[in-house]
Amino acid sequence: MTRTDSDTWDLASSVGATATMVATARALATKEAEPLIQDPYADPLVRAVGVDFFIRLLDGQVDLTGDVGTTAAMMTTLMAVRTKFFDDFFVSATDAGIRQAVILASGLDSRAYRLPWPDGTVVYEIDQPEVIAAKTGTMAQIGAAPTCERRTVAIDLREDWPAALRAAGFDPSAPTAWIAEGLLIYLPPEAQDKLFDNITALSAPGSRLATEFHTDHGAGMAQRGAAMSERWRGAGLDLNLTDLWYQGDRTSVVEHLDAAGWNTTARPRLEVFAEYGRPLAETEDTAALRNSLSVTAIKN
Ligand code: SAM
Repeated sequence: MTRTDSDTWDLASSVGATATMVATARALATKEAEPLIQDPYADPLVRAVGVDFFIRLLDGQVDLTGDVGTTAAMMTTLMAVRTKFFDDFFVSATDAGIRQAVILASGLDSRAYRLPWPDGTVVYEIDQPEVIAAKTGTMAQIGAAPTCERRTVAIDLREDWPAALRAAGFDPSAPTAWIAEGLLIYLPPEAQDKLFDNITALSAPGSRLATEFHTDHGAGMAQRGAAMSERWRGAGLDLNLTDLWYQGDRTSVVEHLDAAGWNTTARPRLEVFAEYGRPLAETEDTAALRNSLSVTAIKN
């Protein structure tokens, strides 16, 4: 299925299924012997979506010998490190006094329910309506309560989400911590630029931002995605990741943010893996990560 300008999805289809895929990896990472992250909600959230392949992965019923196992292990490590990076970003932002956060493309992210937000912190989650509704419903059903004041904004990020965010109570005069995790490749290049322009316009001085950027414009990811999709298909999941990603040249997030008045820091993601005690061998499977940056920025 190729993308269109106004396509929509739930958590079992198209781009929405990628949210379930990464939550599956977080659930698996949580169950590791020496886990880097604790996301107790990932497992029930994935089960509630009901995609057979992901549930079988959680239950250890997918044959993990060979390439499928390599891909599952790689994705689990990738998500453990990525989750920890963004968890740490929020903890550091709130330690610095920030009390307003925005999770762009929140998917099955459970941070509003599991991070130790200081009293008075408001966390906004933005994603497509069906995604927001399904997660909110499952969390209520399992009796999970937010650890912050959670406010949802059910809108497509290609629409006028700043207006919807303000309507939900967002205060542009207060410094904000923003994350865009696992999002950019699902946006056309011009929508990515607009996203960061909108974030900049809504960010008081001292605001912070964390995201990831592929310096090869996603070419390595596309290659890895194609190989991964092929392996998953053989094991029972029909999800063609490369059909869902927008490829081709896009603006460097680092240059864009620097030019827009942010003080930006970018680190190769392999360095972040090593820092968290999950060093990755330089194999074909990890090649795409060598061109990938973990980015944080502070608004001047
Ligand atoms: N950030 C979450 C995480 O890391 O667990 C979810 C990542 S998932 C790979 C991609 C998410 O981006 C999905 O939840 C999807 O609904 C959301 N997304 C992609 N394009 C979007 C758009 N145009 N508007 C709203 N949400 C979008």
